[in-house]
Amino acid sequence: KHTSAGVRARAEVDLAALRGNVRALRSRVGPGVALMGVVKSDGYGHGMLPTARAALDAGATWLGTATPHEALALRAAGIESRVMCWLWTPGDPWREGIEADLDMSVSAMWALREVTAAAREAGRPARIQLKADTGLGRNGCQPADWPELVAAALDAQAAGLVRVTGLWSHFACADEPGHPSITAQLDAFHEMVAYAEKEGVEPEVRHIANSAAMLTLPQASFDLVRAGIAMYGISPSPELGTSWDFGLRPAMTLSASVALVKRVPEGHGVSYGHHYVTSRETTLGLVPLGYADGIPRHASGRGPVLVGGVRRRVAGRVAMDQFVVDLGGDTPEPGATAILFGPGDRGEPTAEDWAEAADTIAYEIVTRIGSRVPRVYV
Ligand code: PLP
Repeated sequence: KHTSAGVRARAEVDLAALRGNVRALRSRVGPGVALMGVVKSDGYGHGMLPTARAALDAGATWLGTATPHEALALRAAGIESRVMCWLWTPGDPWREGIEADLDMSVSAMWALREVTAAAREAGRPARIQLKADTGLGRNGCQPADWPELVAAALDAQAAGLVRVTGLWSHFACADEPGHPSITAQLDAFHEMVAYAEKEGVEPEVRHIANSAAMLTLPQASFDLVRAGIAMYGISPSPELGTSWDFGLRPAMTLSASVALVKRVPEGHGVSYGHHYVTSRETTLGLVPLGYADGIPRHASGRGPVLVGGVRRRVAGRVAMDQFVVDLGGDTPEPGATAILFGPGDRGEPTAEDWAEAADTIAYEIVTRIGSRVPRVYV
């Protein structure tokens, strides 16, 4: 029906690059450490199912999602690897999770009560992973509440209602090398794991490392690392370096066809609010992507774009569906390609450059690319 899908704009996803990133990360952490491909939030905007399959092809043996619905969608698509999901809300589908053989994170007594009730109904044990808050201050069980949670989980295991398959945690500041919370969290994790194991938990996996940790802290690998942003070829933080410094290749290229090219005189206000005024007679190009497509309005006047081999900037405000670039003396034909970001090796900006222009992180840039932009797999 939509034969023109991808003409206006497209997000090309290079699955070979993604597979290469998974292989690079696996060789970095070594053969004894399993890799979980984190594919939540539609594979960080890259498309959950294609990225999940590519990650598994390249040697990931686990997949991770936030919500149970994301994890169940992986199963519905026929994916049989281990799948873990960690963001449960009261009333969520525990029983479906048990029947789908998910690894379900449990941070609190309410969750243990819901999962054991569901296991009783399902007539089979749930695979649960106990999450420790070792200092992130977000999800996870506080150290003070850990003995109660561990004891209750072991009781439920003895009753055949759960199997405690993992002990895990998450860093607050792994992307800030040398931050004192890193060693404090590692120490707390060692203690909380040691306590649970002394009490009788025999986990299949213990894990705390995200991308930043797997790139910089080999002592944090334990049995498994959870690779999100790095798998997509993006550095977790400019403080650590660029993707290229880590041998990673950004998988997504976001481009659009220039919709209109026109000459305007000097002194012409451009886009809402006239925050950009032409300083000479010039050519304007209209790029048909806007904040509804995830282009940050905060990058108005700053976001970089490659048109006809030349780097330009967003002129004036990013609107809901479109923005303008000042092409100077260039007069490309309508339909010429504007590349917003890509791997960066053809002169185009990267998602990391857009993050800088919008005062945010590259995670937000790729994750927010909207559903109106077709993903094209190459
Ligand atoms: N583990 C958990 C619990 C997460 O929430 C995330 C993502 O936010 C990740 C791992 C992956 O993090 P990253 O993309 O920094 O590798």
